[in-house]
Amino acid sequence: MSTIAELRVSHPDDHEPPPKARSLFAEHVKVYPRSVQGTFRRLKWALLVLLLGVYYLTPWIRWDRGPEAPDQAVLVDMTGRRLYFFFIELWPQQIYYLTGVLIFCAVGLFLVTTLFGRLWCGYACPQTVWTDLFLWVERQVEGERGPRIRLDKGPWTAAKIARKTLKHAIWLVISVATGGAWIFYFTDAPTLTGQMLALDAPSTTMWFIALFSATTYLLAGWAREQVCIYMCPWPRFQAAMQDEDSMIVTYQAWRGEGRGSVRKGVTWEERLAQGGGDCVDCGVCHHACPTGIDIRDGNQLACIGCGLCIDACNTVMSRLGRPRQLITFDTQNNQFAKAVGKTERFRLIRPRTVIYALILVTLAGAMIAGLVLRPHLDISVLRDRAPLFVALSGGDIRNGYTFKISNMTRYHHDYVLRLAGLPGATMAVAGRDDEGLVEVPLTAKPDSVVSYRILVRAPRTSLTGASTPLDFVLTSLGDRETALYDSVFLGPARPER
Ligand code: SF4
Ligand code: SF4
Repeated sequence: MSTIAELRVSHPDDHEPPPKARSLFAEHVKVYPRSVQGTFRRLKWALLVLLLGVYYLTPWIRWDRGPEAPDQAVLVDMTGRRLYFFFIELWPQQIYYLTGVLIFCAVGLFLVTTLFGRLWCGYACPQTVWTDLFLWVERQVEGERGPRIRLDKGPWTAAKIARKTLKHAIWLVISVATGGAWIFYFTDAPTLTGQMLALDAPSTTMWFIALFSATTYLLAGWAREQVCIYMCPWPRFQAAMQDEDSMIVTYQAWRGEGRGSVRKGVTWEERLAQGGGDCVDCGVCHHACPTGIDIRDGNQLACIGCGLCIDACNTVMSRLGRPRQLITFDTQNNQFAKAVGKTERFRLIRPRTVIYALILVTLAGAMIAGLVLRPHLDISVLRDRAPLFVALSGGDIRNGYTFKISNMTRYHHDYVLRLAGLPGATMAVAGRDDEGLVEVPLTAKPDSVVSYRILVRAPRTSLTGASTPLDFVLTSLGDRETALYDSVFLGPARPER
């Protein structure tokens, strides 16, 4: 009897090896960007110095807010639960302004991306700035692209160990300075520096400095372009912001192709007549790219729009005596037009740019108005839960409330508290002798939250049911600012009995 295997129908392809499954895994190829010179490189250096300067120096700027207030211009005071930004002081209940700032930044980024492509990624993103700095250190210690490749491929000699150790030591110093500077935004910078020098800094603070230092070292030193290509979500959806009129870094294929090396004895006129283009296929643009891509392959997700390939190619074109800007910063529409010998004007005003600009203006207006008109007095009222009410011997009903005043100014304030909506209601402040008041004087120290226990007494005849609306109205005697809180007064279900 035949087995199933023997009964299997034979096929000529059976003897062919099965096709190899295509792996979706791409092994990481280390990128060794070469240094370049030119307009975009200079712009990047200038922004790098400016942004790093702002980041490292801001916590050291002082701002006088008066006695008993921190004098650090920018401070996120977690223990005091305040956010200080020069003359602006935000309380926890005003933190929605931060949400507004984040939305404003996001829409601003949309607008910039729509107009000029990934300027943020190429010039201002912290990952780009610190990676650029780390690469500069690497170049100073290990040399240009070629020597760096040879060093990595070569054996571990004493010279190689010395260079690698020096590079990583400098990286670590920058990382610790970066992590430390970040913590300075959350505590008084001079005080913390003194504590660190005296080896007396809180362990939690040191732990956070270590965490942010490690993050900087790993992301800027090791992960580099992989953060932009694989980890960052922005490249995934920034394409939705761009259109054919967005300025992007682009290779002018109509001018560069067919690419090929320069042949001796062939003039440029002859080369062009034979179908050749300006691109001499030197690969310098590819080697200059910090994300390791070849812009001649077209617009790509990994292109951060830094423009270094433009500088690199311009140097080559100048050396060859050819027009610069073979790789250029231009719109797709203009490129299509140029390919047929025309030129398109850059369209700044387009539906999406108008929409983003309108959102920005509206948001900015609302936030500025909100900040200028925001109250400096806030009250909250919490009614006693147990007992809900007390029936007094004379027949009146009493409710207890915890009354909090947030004095968001730098001055001492005197207030007067009144009740509204409950005829005949009187008050007493727990701990004080006087009772039966229709107006209660209260005070609050500068920049503080004070809590009072208020006992409200009302005749049964004033109650409209088990729950009667009651308003607490607090007025500042100085600036007449008033705050109102809607609450309720509880009593028996049938108050008339
Ligand atoms: S640098 Fe310019 S010439 Fe050289 S490969 Fe790139 S595009 Fe071609
Ligand atoms: S392709 Fe050019 S613009 Fe894009 S990331 Fe590379 S060097 Fe920068």
